[in-house]
Amino acid sequence: MSENQEKPNKKTAARVRIRGIVQGVGFRPFLHRLANRYGVCGYVRNTSAGVELWLEAEPDAQNAFLNDLAPNAPEMAVIESVEVEKNLPLRGLQGFAILESSAEEETNTLVLPDLAICPACRKELLDPVDRRYRYPFINCTDCGPRFTIVERLPYDRASTTMKRFPMCPTCSREYHSLAGRRYHAQPDCCGSCGPQLILTDAEGEPMEGDAVQGAAECLLSGGILAVKGLGGFHLACAASDREAVRKLRLKKHRDERPFAVMCSDIAMAKELCRISEEEARILSGPRAPIVLLKKKDPAAFAEVSFTKELGIMLPYTPLHLLLLQAVGQPLVMTSGNLSDRPVIYRNEDALRQLRSAADCFLLHDRDIYSFCDDSLCRVLDGSEYFIRRSRGYVPQPILTAEDCGQILACGAEQKASFSLSKGFHLMQSQHIGDLKNFDTLERYEEQVERFCRLFEIRPQTVVCDLHPDYLSTDFARRYAEKTGIPLIQVQHHHAHMAACMLDRDLKGPVIGLIWDGTGLGTDGTVWGAECLIGGCARAERFGTILPIPLIGGDRAVKEISRVGFALLRAAGCEEEAAGMPDAPLLEQLLRSGVNCAASSGMGRLFDGAAAILGLRKTVSYEGQGAVLLEETATESSRCYPILMSGSPLTFDWRPMIRGMAEDKNKGKEVGEIAAAFMNTLVEMAAQMCRAASDVSGLKEIVLSGGSFQNMYLMERLPARLERSGFIVYHHKRLSANDEGISAGQLAVAVARMREGLID
Ligand code: ZN
Ligand code: ZN
Ligand code: FE
Repeated sequence: MSENQEKPNKKTAARVRIRGIVQGVGFRPFLHRLANRYGVCGYVRNTSAGVELWLEAEPDAQNAFLNDLAPNAPEMAVIESVEVEKNLPLRGLQGFAILESSAEEETNTLVLPDLAICPACRKELLDPVDRRYRYPFINCTDCGPRFTIVERLPYDRASTTMKRFPMCPTCSREYHSLAGRRYHAQPDCCGSCGPQLILTDAEGEPMEGDAVQGAAECLLSGGILAVKGLGGFHLACAASDREAVRKLRLKKHRDERPFAVMCSDIAMAKELCRISEEEARILSGPRAPIVLLKKKDPAAFAEVSFTKELGIMLPYTPLHLLLLQAVGQPLVMTSGNLSDRPVIYRNEDALRQLRSAADCFLLHDRDIYSFCDDSLCRVLDGSEYFIRRSRGYVPQPILTAEDCGQILACGAEQKASFSLSKGFHLMQSQHIGDLKNFDTLERYEEQVERFCRLFEIRPQTVVCDLHPDYLSTDFARRYAEKTGIPLIQVQHHHAHMAACMLDRDLKGPVIGLIWDGTGLGTDGTVWGAECLIGGCARAERFGTILPIPLIGGDRAVKEISRVGFALLRAAGCEEEAAGMPDAPLLEQLLRSGVNCAASSGMGRLFDGAAAILGLRKTVSYEGQGAVLLEETATESSRCYPILMSGSPLTFDWRPMIRGMAEDKNKGKEVGEIAAAFMNTLVEMAAQMCRAASDVSGLKEIVLSGGSFQNMYLMERLPARLERSGFIVYHHKRLSANDEGISAGQLAVAVARMREGLID
C-alpha cells in the first residue's frame, strides 16, 4: 500500500474472478473493449465458475476498468460477485487477449436461456445490402440459441450443435474482430457456412423454390405447416382461417385448450388485443414468452381461444420473422406434438409423427440438443406471472440464500418439472408435460440425466411428493435405490408454499394460502384448498374446506356435473340435484359409496360451481371449470354466507351452494352468481387468514397453487387481504401451478436438513 502511494503510477497486476451469468452474453468481448479503452493489458478466459481476468496496468486504469464493469455489462449478464486480488507480480503482458476456455474441477452452473433476435440482427436480416440479408440463422452475442444447442460446458462452439458448421473466412474474421457484435459469438454463421432451410411436402420430399415463400403459400392456402423453431417444432396455420384452425385441432387431437398466436410485431398484436406498456415490454423483450392478453373483441378468434384472452408471442427467431413477414397475418403456433405428447424437436421424428397433421415441413439442419417449449405468462404487477416457465427463462438459476448442496427434486405429476441445486443456484427444468405416459416419463428421465451432466451435478439427496402413484415419485424411489442416496418426501401443498417463499426470498414463517386441484395430504386424504402456517422446514394445516365427494373418482375431474350433483346433494338441494344430468345414476353411485373418495380441492369446488350454473357438463382439461366461471363472471359485490368451524378450520360451502341454487331458481343472471361465488371465496380466504393470524401473529401471506391463475381471484384477493393489514406475496419467478412444486420441494429439503430434521 505504502509503496503504491509513493509510486502511484507503477504498473501492477491483478487477478479478477467474476461469477455469475457471464458466458455466452458477450461478456468477454465487452471486457476486451473495456481493456482497450483504459489501456489495460492482460487476458480473460472463461472458467467453470465464470470468467477470470488478468489485468496489468497502473492502479488508476485498473480501478477505472473495475468501476466500469458492473454498470456497463451486457444486458443479459448477471454479475454475482467480483473478487479482486491486487498487487500481484507483473508478467509483462502486451495487449489484451481472450484465451481458450479452461476446464476446472468446479463447473459453472450457468447456461444462458435462448434469446429472441435482437434489434441489430433484425435490421441486418431485412437489409438488402447486408451479407446476411434474409439468412434465417443470423445471431450475435446479444441474441440467438443457447440452452437448446449446448451439449456441455464451458460454452464454446465445439460444445454446441453448431460444431458441424465450420466458419467461413468472413464469419471467422467477425468472430475474432473486437469491434463487432459477433466477437466470440459461438453460434455465429452466415448463408455460406451455416445451417440451411429446406421445405418438404408431407412425405418429406424437398420442394422447389424459396423455402419461406413456399411455406407462406402453404399457410395462405389453408394448409398446416410444421416448422422447426428454437426449442422444438410448431404446428402453424393462419389464425383467421377458421377451417384451418379446426383442422389443426382435429389433427392434433387437441381439446378446447386455447392455441397461441404469433404476430409479426406489436402493431399487429395491438389489432387483436389490448396491450399495456408493461405487457408490450415483456412481449417484445429478449425472452419473448407467450403473453395472455385481453382480446379487443371477446368473441373474435373463438376457434383459437374460447376465452376472452389470446396468447400472443412475437417472432423470436429470424426464421419466424421471415415467415410472419411473408404471410403478413397472425399465425396459430402450437407446439408440434400430438395428443399431449412431448414436443417434437428432431427432423426425423417430426417427419414421421407429424406427417398426418402437416401439409408441409419447414426444416433446418441446426440440431436442437434440448427441447424447450414456449413460455406462457400473464403480466401481473409489472412482471411475468407464469403458467409455464420454459424457453427464454430456463435454465437461468434462482439464487438461493444458503448453500443448497447438490439436490434433485422430482416435482409432481401434472406440468412436470424437476429442480437441481448446486451451491447457491437452483435450476428448474424446462416444461416437460404431464407425467402420465411413457413418452413423457422417458423425456423427463433423459432431461434429469442431461442437466446433471451439463451442470456436473451429482445429487446427494433426492426429493419427491408424498403421492405414491406419481411417476415422479416412482422415479425418485428408483433413483434413490440406484444411487444409494436418501429420499425425502414433501407434502404437495407445503411444497407449493415453499416454492412461493423461495420465489419471493422469504425466510418465514408465513401463512400459506394454497389452492389447487389435488395433492395428497399428510393424513392420507386428498387436499386442495389449504391454509398452512409455518416455514420451509415444516408447516401445519390450519384451515381447509369441507371435503367434496368425487363420484367415480377421477371421472369426476372431467365430468364436472358429477361434482355439481354431489355439492347440491350435500347442501340439501334435492330438487336441483335431481335436475342435474344423469341424476338417477349418480344418486345410485353416491349411495353405494363405492369409488367416492372425497377431496378438499379448490379446483373441484370451481368445477362443481360451473356445473351447477349449467356452464358445462364436462370439461376437457383440468382447470377449465375455473376458467369458465372467470369468463362468465360479471360485476357483483355480493357474497354468500360464510360458515367456518372446527380444527383445522373448515369452510363449509353448503350455505354458499344453497345460495347459488336459490339465485339460479330465482332466475338471477348466471354471470352475477359466478361473481358472487368467487367473492365468497375471497371473503372466506380473508376470514381464514385473519384467524390464522390471530393464532400465529403472522402478517405475511404467500399465495400458491393453480387456482391462483384465476385472474378474478388475483385481481381481488390480494387487495382484500392488504386492506386487512396483511402483506401478500404471489409468484413472480416460478409458476403458481404444479410446475413450481419441484423448486419448493428442494427448498423444503434444504431447510429440513439444516434444522437436522433429516440426517
Ligand atoms: Zn443479435
Ligand atoms: Zn459464414
Ligand atoms: Fe398442486
